[in-house]
Parts: sequence; C-alpha cells; structure tokens
Amino acid sequence: MNDTTDPECLFCRIVAGELPADVVETTERVVAFRDIDPQAPVHVLVVPKEHHGDVSVLAAADPGLLAEVVEVADTVAHDLADGQYRFIFNSGPRAGQSVFHVHGHVIAGTQLGWSPA
Ligand code: AMP
Repeated sequence: MNDTTDPECLFCRIVAGELPADVVETTERVVAFRDIDPQAPVHVLVVPKEHHGDVSVLAAADPGLLAEVVEVADTVAHDLADGQYRFIFNSGPRAGQSVFHVHGHVIAGTQLGWSPA
C-alpha cells in the first residue's frame, strides 16, 4: 500500500490526529514526533504522512518524499540537539521494525556507541 492511509496503522492514526503524539516538527508531507520509549535524550520519529510500509517502498514510490524525510530529520537534530545524530530505518521484523509505516529514528543528544545487535 502507498499514497494512501491505512485506518489500522498506528502512525496513520497519529498523522490524522486520532491518537496523541508529541509533535516537534511538521511540514506539508512529513511529521516528526518524539518516540514514546526514547533510547536517547533526543529520540524522534520522522514519518511521511502518506502510508508506505518501509524505506525501500518509499524510495521506489517517491524518492523526493524520502529526501524530505531526511531534511526534516536534519532540522530536528539541529533544533533539539547539536546537529550530530544517527538516522535509522529498521526495515523488516528481523531488523527490529515493529510499525509498518516507514519512519526514521533520529537519535541524538549524547555520545553514541556502535552496538546495532
Ligand atoms: P520500529 O521498531 O523501528 O518499527 O520503531 C517503532 C517505534 O515506534 C518504537 O521505537 C516505539 O517506541 C515507537 N512507538 C510506538 N508507539 C508509539 C506512539 N504511540 N508514539 C510514539 N512512538 C511510538
């Protein structure tokens, strides 16, 4: 599914305002809100308003929208931290993806280690 809204999707419901979120940035096509279970001092999810299942689906369907997601991530990292950040897309359950509406995690605000496993 793409270019639409999935009424069963958690992040579509946040985008629609049906569920609460701590929104930190919004543009015409992208919204960024704080992760409910933060893993760092700054942990923000950047989400296209359209429903796309994961980053590869979005990249194929609308690379310009993926670029907008990256731009918003960079804005958030400069607004809420020092502009140094990690931007993570979990893609697939074995990579840890649990919400199947593409989202990038902005992780910032501390010295990061490298332990992806
Ligand atoms: P992932 O595991 O990569 O699919 O990331 C999903 C993220 O969504 C997790 O880090 C969750 O903590 C976060 N999350 C789940 N429900 C909410 C919610 N209602 N508001 C904000 N973040 C959420």
